[in-house]
Amino acid sequence: MKPAFYKSPAYKKKQSTLIKSAWKNGAYNHLRKIEKRICARDKCGKSFLSIPSDPKKYCSRSCAIKVNNTQRKRNLKLDEEQLIKLYHHGFSSKEIAEELGFSENKINYWLKQFKIPKRSISNAIYLKHNPNGDPFSIKRNLTRRKTAFRIRLRNLLGRR
Ligand SMILES: [Zn+2]
Repeated sequence: MKPAFYKSPAYKKKQSTLIKSAWKNGAYNHLRKIEKRICARDKCGKSFLSIPSDPKKYCSRSCAIKVNNTQRKRNLKLDEEQLIKLYHHGFSSKEIAEELGFSENKINYWLKQFKIPKRSISNAIYLKHNPNGDPFSIKRNLTRRKTAFRIRLRNLLGRR
């Protein structure tokens, strides 16, 4: 017969803690069942290793996002026309980003996705057309130009 302490809650708890940490430390790795799964995203087809208790379906976070979070992409896609229109009207990615409420990186990313060739920044264009302007007048003109830009941009977007 087993000694009584085997049944005591304190003993059981201690054993459970020890065994759990042993699993964590890899002492029982040879007992783990590792299975090979194929990524559930149709176009991916990569395989990855997983344990049976892990509900993982996709090979990577990026695959999971592509399947589960299509909304974000779709919302931005709606703005493709708008984005192209603004960009061809001479607005910089920074100005578009500010107006549409996205980061400049994101706008640059989408310009690239839509294969819109990247211009140099608006300041550079301005300076190119005004090589003899003194720095102070350039700064003043840029501020004025920026205000005019915003008004044009708002008109293009149909905003007030
Ligand atoms: Zn995948």
